[in-house]
Amino acid sequence: MSDSNHSVSIAVLGSVNLDIVASVPRLPVPGETVTGADIRRYPGGKGANQALAACRLGARTALIGSVGEDAEAGEALALLRAAGVDLSACRAAHGFPTGIALIAVSAAGENQIVVAPGANRALAPDALTLPPADALLAQLEIPIRTLETAAANFPGLICLNLAPAMRVSRPLLHRAHLIVVNETEAAFFGDALHDGPGLVAVTFGAAGARLYRGGEELAAAAAPRVQAIDTTGAGDCFTAALAVAMVEHQALEDALAFACAAAALATTVRGAQPSLPDRGRVEAFLRKRG
Ligand code: ADP
Repeated sequence: MSDSNHSVSIAVLGSVNLDIVASVPRLPVPGETVTGADIRRYPGGKGANQALAACRLGARTALIGSVGEDAEAGEALALLRAAGVDLSACRAAHGFPTGIALIAVSAAGENQIVVAPGANRALAPDALTLPPADALLAQLEIPIRTLETAAANFPGLICLNLAPAMRVSRPLLHRAHLIVVNETEAAFFGDALHDGPGLVAVTFGAAGARLYRGGEELAAAAAPRVQAIDTTGAGDCFTAALAVAMVEHQALEDALAFACAAAALATTVRGAQPSLPDRGRVEAFLRKRG
């Protein structure tokens, strides 16, 4: 389903949030108050982040999502709209607020996140209109039943980012051609992760990422060394980049290196969405590293 200029197409089914980010000297421990924070507001949500990442990396991208009938919706969708992501299947849900994520980021680049899903909870299976696309990319910040319905009916490549970790059915895991998890999520799912026929990518933060099938390692990539100042959205950038590389039929080693390069660049700028690199930057970065 690629068009005449050969760009691939990706339908992202997922969450839209407004991120309210507090930059703090260090993260609080439970019960502790840390003061001196500086607050900023950024568009976010794993679905929106991954849609913007895929779009900036050159895929024709549509986002299927749900926002509130409030001012935060426009703020949350602003960068997607500006980048040209197709938002025709992104609906305003009556009576729900736009999802909000409260994020604390330390000077060391670590984060803590609390999410109020709001309208993301209203994304029901019966309201789904999946546009035709080469790949479906989804995460776990929307109702699982909606995701299961979409995955059961989608004819192309299915990429699942199992984040945040929660119980999902075996048929859903087996339906995925590509599963992406970080180390914590990999531990949550355990052996079940490697049960299905698809590829499994596990990310290890500054230590890079590995690709498996049936529990057997097929490829590994180191994370390029960068000055990481905010890792929020690094996993989203990695997931979208790997999905784009897969639909482009890049070799596994190349696809993993491409995703690690994109994700590394995403850690060098504050905010999940402003930090997402475009295709030209990732390719220049890969060339420079040889
Ligand atoms: P998540 O953000 O979902 O917790 P990770 O922390 O594993 O996931 O990061 C995802 C990917 O982002 C990593 O595989 C790596 O490619 C990249 N990344 C994360 N942190 C860094 C870092 N400090 N330096 C370079 N790349 C990083």
